[in-house]
Amino acid sequence: MSSSYEIRLCQNPSCGLRYPIKSDHEFGLRCPLCLSDTYLVTTRSLEVENNYSPSKPPQKIEVLIDNIRSAWNVGAIFRTADAMFVSRIHLCGITTTPDNPTVNKTALGASSSVVWTYSRNAVETARQLKSEGFHLLALEQTNQSVSVFSELPEVKYPILIIVGNEVTGVDPDLLSLSDQIIDIPMLGKKRSLNVEVAFGIAISALRYYHNQLSG
Ligand SMILES: [Zn+2]
Repeated sequence: MSSSYEIRLCQNPSCGLRYPIKSDHEFGLRCPLCLSDTYLVTTRSLEVENNYSPSKPPQKIEVLIDNIRSAWNVGAIFRTADAMFVSRIHLCGITTTPDNPTVNKTALGASSSVVWTYSRNAVETARQLKSEGFHLLALEQTNQSVSVFSELPEVKYPILIIVGNEVTGVDPDLLSLSDQIIDIPMLGKKRSLNVEVAFGIAISALRYYHNQLSG
């Protein structure tokens, strides 16, 4: 895969599209909207060194994904989980597993770098992990939920973050089993987030705010 991109500009004055394209393109010189010739504006290298190193070892966090059918959502959670040093993902119920190629594609390979398990009944899996000492944190909007950006003094590790179905949310019995229910404070007119976006915000808060990792 090419590690540099070109920014090109359409020569047609009534079009003016500005767009990126890989430098090793074969047919990329024509505007994708109007097919006119294009100028090369600039080239951008995508080789970036990862200079971040955590100030201390990240604490143990695992994730339980219950009944998330969308392969795209599951893949996105895998990708975020890899970035946030999640040690294991537990897939439950009708959740699409990385055996589905779309999960792998969306995860950009993270579904092979993060260990995962599958079970049909999330409540049994959560009960087992709780007996092993996990602190269960369900991500859901309820009357008992506390903001993930609040103090959370009772949180202890290892943590199991529980996310549920895109429409129906976290299973009531999983909520009952949970030690705490967290949510993301909403400022806009829409009162909810996509599940993988909410997960990304919650785990970032846990890693960099509560776990005090410096970036
Ligand atoms: Zn054009």
